[in-house]
Amino acid sequence: MKLDYRFVRNENPKPHPEDESKLGFGRIFTDYMFMMDYDSANGWHDMRIVPFDYIPVHPASTVFHYGAEIFEGLKAYRTADGKIQMFRPVENIRRMNNSAERLCLPQVDEELFMSILETIVGTEKDWVPHSDGTSLYIRPFMYGNDPHLGVHAVHNATFVVICSPVGAYYAEGINPVRIAIESTDVRAVRGGTGYAKCGGNYAASLRAGEKAEKNGFTQVLWLDSVERRYIEEVGSMNVMFKINGEIVTPALLGSVLPGITRKSCIELLKEKGYKVSERKISVDELFEAAASGTLEEAWGTGTAAVVSPIGWLHYLDSEYTVSGGKIGPVTQMLYDTLTDIQWGRAADTHGWIHPVA
Ligand SMILES: *Cc1c(COP(=O)(O)O)cnc(C)c1O
Repeated sequence: MKLDYRFVRNENPKPHPEDESKLGFGRIFTDYMFMMDYDSANGWHDMRIVPFDYIPVHPASTVFHYGAEIFEGLKAYRTADGKIQMFRPVENIRRMNNSAERLCLPQVDEELFMSILETIVGTEKDWVPHSDGTSLYIRPFMYGNDPHLGVHAVHNATFVVICSPVGAYYAEGINPVRIAIESTDVRAVRGGTGYAKCGGNYAASLRAGEKAEKNGFTQVLWLDSVERRYIEEVGSMNVMFKINGEIVTPALLGSVLPGITRKSCIELLKEKGYKVSERKISVDELFEAAASGTLEEAWGTGTAAVVSPIGWLHYLDSEYTVSGGKIGPVTQMLYDTLTDIQWGRAADTHGWIHPVA
């Protein structure tokens, strides 16, 4: 599908960052952004690529008062032969439509969404960085725009895609992280919005994240909000454990975000002959495994880091070291296999790669 859009030239393009080792995450943005508007009478309309800039928003807009906002995150990778490709973008498109359904925001036709991604990444292809491990992070988001304060499903919305060249996540090598299991705050509840990628979930998670950081931890591991017993996920990553040879990850029961990296890891692990169980896992079971030496590896999964080994788990007054505080072989295998596919170093036998330019 060819996207029908208008183009407003950016008369003041920015210089591209010279030192790609200093890109960091989400601090630098490209010259253009994609936008389109929705209202119930006209559907999605006015598709446009415009200079990256501030967006005027009505002060009464639903997004400011009632948190009507959803987003996605995926990356475009530059291969050794200079091609640009995305990883499983159709999964992000479907997940964003699921998030939209949950928050009563309008859906975006899958084909239209894909051609938007192809068009904005194609426009900004020179912004996809070249150095090892770098990529162009793509952030589609949507917000409710109704200009009045009544509480109701939105009738007006805006969809935007911005792009940011991002640095190698592990510039200094993969270092296992320290994780604090949160016993007071909860992130999401079944029936709520946990499975949707919405800003509100993050707003609710910030306090525990700040506390953990102040105490020297990288991220929070969330427990279920009813019994405060079952493991859910880590910060902005899903979580997996290797216990006595078996891979265990919390089942998707509504409060956990269905990660695309999670799904990809499960598929790869099953292909390689591992037993993978998506089920409930309690913090007691985890610590019993840690105490008896059968907790062999633990890692988080997400688009930003791909996999992030967990070296230390802290809960109430106990701390457990996992895998001797080092990255384990399964974690390393997943990282290598996925990044080889993403950067085109290995053949894409799964149909996960979507070429752009
Ligand atoms: C985005 C996200 C993830 C990871 O999803 P990926 O598709 O693998 O990037 C996990 N948990 C939360 C809360 C998220 O927002």
